[in-house]
Amino acid sequence: MAKIEITILGTTAGIPTRERAHPAIYLTYRDRNEFCYLFDCGEGTQRQMLLADLNPMKLNEIFITHWHGDHYFGLPGLVDTMSFEDRVKSLTIYAPELKRFTNLFNLRYPSETFKVISRDVPTKGDKITDLLETANFKIVSIPVEHEMPAVAYGLMEKERIKIDKNKIKQAGLPAQGLIYKKIKEKGKVIFKNREIKLESISTTRKGKKIVYSGDTKVCDNLIKLAQNTDLLIQDCTYFDFGKFKKYGHASLEDIIKMVEQINAKKVILTHISRRYKDPEKLREKIKDYPSLEIAKDFMKITI
Ligand SMILES: [Zn+2]
Repeated sequence: MAKIEITILGTTAGIPTRERAHPAIYLTYRDRNEFCYLFDCGEGTQRQMLLADLNPMKLNEIFITHWHGDHYFGLPGLVDTMSFEDRVKSLTIYAPELKRFTNLFNLRYPSETFKVISRDVPTKGDKITDLLETANFKIVSIPVEHEMPAVAYGLMEKERIKIDKNKIKQAGLPAQGLIYKKIKEKGKVIFKNREIKLESISTTRKGKKIVYSGDTKVCDNLIKLAQNTDLLIQDCTYFDFGKFKKYGHASLEDIIKMVEQINAKKVILTHISRRYKDPEKLREKIKDYPSLEIAKDFMKITI
């Protein structure tokens, strides 16, 4: 079974603190192969990766939620290091309005050893956009509501269909053979003049889902993407109730209302304003909500 490992490298909002670095999330999807992704790349991200024992050279794709400095000032340095390390493989960066920022990747010294490919991410409308697809999962985006064009990202694992040994025995089918490859491809086969349907001899396992809100108010699009998610990593800049609505961020009050609608297994609150210094006081505020948890730098979650 595939394993998804997430390391939250930075958990502050606009300004870093001694305990909290700028936003970045490193995700590894591991089955027979290994896929590594970075979501946001605030200042200092490459050093946070070193401290967390994560390899930046394994990243082939980086996803930026929006162009506020706290989410991307680490990019030029990271790309520069990859050049110093003689990277050859191209690096793809997904982000809204990327054309305005491609110069960022030309700051490399001593020379370009690899290509940086830019992929624009839609920031209008209410559609979930597929950005990248492998055999087992997709990475998607949806526009959200911040002070500038911004998106949330999701990793959505595909359903796994497994041939059930008991069911094929009962149906009088062979224990193995090419028939199962065919039936998975076509949904049904004719075997000894009988039609065998895939659903009659298989079980389906729901895929896992992980969503990162980026910076946003709680909005319909975020609620849509985050439905039934196994893990939501959520902007919670403000823990005080009844304030701060104007800044384009989510508050704990909004998140509690959203959680009632989305059926998320776990919600990790991050992008925490530096005004909140004592994690104990924050934990007190969420004690009645068992799915909520407060992020800290280098927190690891395995799903
Ligand atoms: Zn931010």
